[in-house]
Amino acid sequence: MDQLIYINGQWTGASLDKIPVHNPATSQIIGTVPKAGKKETRDAIDAAHSAFTSWSRLTAYERSEYLEKYYHLIIDNVNEIASILTLEMGKPLAEAKGEVRYAASFIKWFAEEGKRVYGRTIPSHVDGKEMLVLKAPVGVVAAITPWNFPAAMITRKMGPALAAGCTIVLKPAKQTPLTAIMLVKLAEQAGIPKGVVNLVTGNAAEIGGEFLSNPKVRKVTFTGSTEIGKELMIQAAQHVKNLSLELGGHAPILILDDADVDKAVKSVIASKFRNGGQTCICGNRVYVQEGIYIQFLEKLINETQQLKVGNGMDEGVDIGPLIDKNGFLKVDEHVHNATRLGAKCWVGGRRIEVQEDAYYYAPTVLSDVTQEMLIMNEETFGPVLPIQKVSTVEEAIAYANLTPYGLAAYVFTESHSLGMKVIHQLDFGIIGWNDGLPSAAQAPFGGMKESGLGREGGIEGLEAFLETKYVSIGL
Ligand code: ADP
Repeated sequence: MDQLIYINGQWTGASLDKIPVHNPATSQIIGTVPKAGKKETRDAIDAAHSAFTSWSRLTAYERSEYLEKYYHLIIDNVNEIASILTLEMGKPLAEAKGEVRYAASFIKWFAEEGKRVYGRTIPSHVDGKEMLVLKAPVGVVAAITPWNFPAAMITRKMGPALAAGCTIVLKPAKQTPLTAIMLVKLAEQAGIPKGVVNLVTGNAAEIGGEFLSNPKVRKVTFTGSTEIGKELMIQAAQHVKNLSLELGGHAPILILDDADVDKAVKSVIASKFRNGGQTCICGNRVYVQEGIYIQFLEKLINETQQLKVGNGMDEGVDIGPLIDKNGFLKVDEHVHNATRLGAKCWVGGRRIEVQEDAYYYAPTVLSDVTQEMLIMNEETFGPVLPIQKVSTVEEAIAYANLTPYGLAAYVFTESHSLGMKVIHQLDFGIIGWNDGLPSAAQAPFGGMKESGLGREGGIEGLEAFLETKYVSIGL
């Protein structure tokens, strides 16, 4: 499968060098994409810039119709998109289908919400004046996406951008460009006019550099590591470029004494082991109050032992391979550091060697974990659950907030008043209370502190692609 890039309604780039795309389950090459650089990126930005005038002038209802059509095409092709997704990213096929439906939900929701971009009038303080607030699309958007949600991270940016009247240039992660290309093919099939959606693959720093320095790009929206996010912020300063950043997390899970243990275990498993733990909002560290510690740990170990690791294309697999060797090395380092410093490993704690270049890791539960261990201070991005015992709710909250990250946090308690107190004290952009899977198209997603700037999804996700224009009219 030699794929091409998409610029101004044309599939192009056949003469460029090729970048191989690997299946992490087998390490086999499953396709190639062109290695585009500055020139192609500039062409894509020019195309988006030319298309902006007509796309932004369509009525919200006309844009909504395109998006509705696009939504139905994604839903009609769930199986095919999901197979591509599993092949290039590794997550189990059932999970990939779930992701594609979730990805489609952003197109659907923003197709509707685009009709509700309201301005307002403001009462004047003097006679003979009218004051209006208008909303306008920001302009050409450049979107940089990661590999862990190859479909949803594309549509979470594309849906609101297109609904707002913006045009877009997409740059998917090098590990997972094929899902993005498939999604762009469907956008083309939906009849979205040329230049409105463009896609480039290739050298990330070169493409990113052009995105940030080209004055025609008015907004850069990025999901990825905090490290690269900071680099983009520095580059953005040059032109005061509008930036949305969804960066790393280090989500705490608080299990309080009065939690419903079965509910907590089920949710923790879903939160941690979904996508093999390679999710920026997945629980990374668990603080369990001492009254429930043993009971919780026993059930958790038991449930974790049931999980099946394997090739995501095989029936019944719960956890696929890690994305690559670097991913594995980080997980391995966290586990070894913890056990060296006194953590007990109850299940997992090792790579499952199927073949040399594929990195499967057994779902792992560590207990007796303490705060100085690496795993309690950094995002692991793998299927490892470290459990630390705490005595009080205050202690759990203090540990939870003891991080430069502020993306997601989880708390399990059956007490309404205690739950309310805890959620007010957690410094995180997303909180799941008795819920391990809080994401939804209609809800704002994003982090505080070093986890990012801005929100995606919900009305905030549309606002991110709009400018505010205030008009004062003398009558
Ligand atoms: P991850 O650790 O999840 O791979 P990265 O932040 O490295 O996270 O990658 C997220 C996205 O950012 C990918 O699309 C990647 O290609 C892109 N990227 C990496 N380096 C740069 C850069 N210097 N400028 C712009 N984009 C980049």
